[in-house]
Amino acid sequence: MPDPNGFLRYDRRLPARRPVPVRIMDWREVYPPAGEELIREQATRCMDCGIPFCHDGCPLGNRIPDWNDLVRTGGWDAAVESLHATNNFPEFTGRLCPAPCEAACVLGLGGQQPVTIKQVEVEIADAAVARGGLRPQPVPAPTGRSVAVVGSGPAGLAAAQQLARAGHAVTVYERDDALGGLLRYGIPDFKLEKRHIDRRLAQLAAEGVRFRTGVNVGVDVTAEELRAEHDAVLLACGALQGRDTPETPGRALRGVHQAMAHLVAANRVVAAAGEGRPALATLPDGTPIDAAGKHVVIIGGGDTAADCLGVAHRQGAAGVHQLDLYPEPPADRDAARDPWPTWPWVLRSYPAHEEGGERVFAVAVQEFVDDGTGQVRAVRIAEVTVEKVDGRRIVTALPGSEREIPADLVLLAIGFEGTEEQPLLAQFGVTRNGRGAVDARPDWQAGADGVFVAGDMHRGASLIVWAIAEGRAAAAAIHAYLGGVGTLPAPVDPARQPLAAR
Ligand SMILES: Cc1cc2nc3c(=O)[nH]c(=O)nc-3n(C[C@H](O)[C@H](O)[C@H](O)COP(=O)(O)OP(=O)(O)OC[C@H]3O[C@@H](n4cnc5c(N)ncnc54)[C@H](O)[C@@H]3O)c2cc1C
Ligand code: SF4
Repeated sequence: MPDPNGFLRYDRRLPARRPVPVRIMDWREVYPPAGEELIREQATRCMDCGIPFCHDGCPLGNRIPDWNDLVRTGGWDAAVESLHATNNFPEFTGRLCPAPCEAACVLGLGGQQPVTIKQVEVEIADAAVARGGLRPQPVPAPTGRSVAVVGSGPAGLAAAQQLARAGHAVTVYERDDALGGLLRYGIPDFKLEKRHIDRRLAQLAAEGVRFRTGVNVGVDVTAEELRAEHDAVLLACGALQGRDTPETPGRALRGVHQAMAHLVAANRVVAAAGEGRPALATLPDGTPIDAAGKHVVIIGGGDTAADCLGVAHRQGAAGVHQLDLYPEPPADRDAARDPWPTWPWVLRSYPAHEEGGERVFAVAVQEFVDDGTGQVRAVRIAEVTVEKVDGRRIVTALPGSEREIPADLVLLAIGFEGTEEQPLLAQFGVTRNGRGAVDARPDWQAGADGVFVAGDMHRGASLIVWAIAEGRAAAAAIHAYLGGVGTLPAPVDPARQPLAAR
C-alpha cells in the first residue's frame, strides 16, 4: 500500500548535475546517480492515484505507480521485472525521455511538482545492471519463422528483442558501421554513454538476434533477396531527411551545415578516441569538425539544436547563439492552451543551456553573410511573428529589426522531413506520404504483403519512447502474421497520438 502522504512530507528533488566547469571538460554523462536514499524518498511521493494518468502519458504504458512503490519499499528486483514488462530499454528512456508521464502526473495539478518518474526509471534500469547484469531471457523453442529488421534504432531493436523472445529467428540489418540508430552517433555521449547500448546489444545477441552492420538494404542487398530469405520484414529506417533552407541567400557558403552532419561527425570523433582509433578531422567538404575558437550559430530549438550546443561547448567554441523562430515559451503551463494532463508548451532548458550560449527567440535568418572568400562571417537576422493560417505557417519579419550575429560555423537544426528517399522504398512497394513518413495499416503493414513499418519511419521524427512502443506493437503484429502462439504486448496502434486537448 503506497504512502498517501509522501508528497506532503517530501518536495520534488533531483540529483545535482555534475558542475558545469568540470563536465564541459569531458564527454561523460552530466547526471550522477541519485543514490538509494534520495530515490526511495522521491518514489514515496507517488500516491498511487485511483486513475494513474501517467500511464496514458507514457506511450509504453509503463506501470509507474507499481514500480514507484517497489522502489519506496526497496523491492528492487521486482521493480526491475515490472519495468521490463513494458519497456525493453529503460536505460535509454530513463536518461533521454522528455517524460510526458510527468506532465500527466496528478501531483502536477494545481501548480504542484510531479513525481520524478523518469529519475526513478533510470535508477531501476541501472539497478538491473548493478544487481547481476542484463541477463538474457531463456529462448523458447524455435518457431522456424524468420524476420528481417531493417534499421537498428530503438524501434528496430525493441521489435527484434520481442520477436526473438517469441522464438522467431531475427536478423537486424544496419547500414552504419555500428548499431543503435540515432542513439549511437546522433545523440552525444554526455546524454547517453554508448556502454548502455553495447550492454543491451550483448543481451539481444545472447537471446539469438543476429546483427549485420554495413549493409545498406536496397543497395547492398535487394528487397527481393531479403524477402526470399525471411518470412516478414520490418522497416525501421528512421526519419533522417534533414530540413534545409536552400532559398536563404548565402546557404552555399562554407561553414553553413546541416546540424546532423556536424553532430554525427563530432560524435564519431568521441567514439574513435574512446577506442584509440584515428578519426576524420573535417567534413567531406573540408570544414573542420571541431568548433574550437569559432563563433557558432545554431538555428533551431529542439533536441538536435541543444545537442549541437553541448558539443560546441565541449569543443571550446568562442561563443554560441541558438536562434528560434518562435517566441520564448512561458515558464509554466498555460492551462487554457494546454490543460493538464496534456504535454504543455513551456520553456524547456536542457543541461546544455546551463553550460553557456545565448538563446534568441522570435527571429529568422534573412541571409548568411559572405566574408568575401565564400566563407560565412555572420548571419543577418530579423525579428519575426509566426502565424498559422489554414495549417500553413506564415512568418512575417518586423521592418527595421535586422541585425548581424558573427558566425564562423552555422548549424541548421530546423527539423526533419521524414524518412529518406532511398531505393529500399520502391523495392518494398512503400511510399512516403505528404509528411515524408510511411503510412501503416492497422496491422502495421505498409506496402507489399509481409512488409511492416515502425518508429520514426512511420511516425516522423519523434521520441525514443514512441520508437520502442511502435517496435513492440509492430512485433506483436508480425508475430500474429507469422501465426505465432499467443499474443505479444502492443502498447500503441498506428493511429495513436500523444495526449492532446485539440
Ligand atoms: C540529435 C538528436 C537528439 C535526440 N535526442 C532525443 C532525446 O533526448 N530523447 C528522445 O526521446 N529522442 C531524441 N531524439 C529522437 C530519437 O533519437 C528518435 O526518435 C529515435 O532514435 C527513432 O528511432 P528509430 O528506431 O525509429 O530510428 P533511428 O534511431 O533513426 O534508426 C534508424 C536506423 O535505420 C538505419 N537505416 C536507414 N536506412 C537503412 C537501410 N536502407 N539499410 C539498413 N539500415 C538503414 C539507419 O542507419 C539508422 O541506424 C533525438 C534525435 C536527434 C536527431
Ligand atoms: S518512458 Fe518516458 S513517458 Fe514512459 S515512464 Fe519513462 S519517462 Fe515517463
